[in-house]
Amino acid sequence: MKKIEHLGIAVANLQESIIVFEKLLNTTCYKTEEVTSEGVRTAFFQVGASKIELLEATNPDSPIAKFLTKQGGGIHHIAFEVDDIEVEIKRLQALDFQLIHESPKEGADNKRIAFLHPKSTNGVLVELCQEKN
Ligand code: ZN
Repeated sequence: MKKIEHLGIAVANLQESIIVFEKLLNTTCYKTEEVTSEGVRTAFFQVGASKIELLEATNPDSPIAKFLTKQGGGIHHIAFEVDDIEVEIKRLQALDFQLIHESPKEGADNKRIAFLHPKSTNGVLVELCQEKN
């Protein structure tokens, strides 16, 4: 894995949280994007070589809505950048890691993504992402 590409943070209200994080990070949100398949609206901030991704649920069945109900917000996932997501999925499966997505899907911010099940990663939700060419 190349680097921590971003940290995902679950928020109840994206517009209010963008204002908070713009002040905190002293930078402006460079993109907001809805990922319909995941039921989320996202906002991105560049912080050095990494990013912060804020995630707001767009419907009650969204994984973010469930996370907010259970845990009340906060850090939701860590995303690692990889060169070849298919190769990385196969490598991790061979080591008995449990994948939520066994093949890559479309993510926000021009990425192909796959999530690992937190049960196999000490309770941490891990996202693999590869920049689309
Ligand atoms: Zn993410």
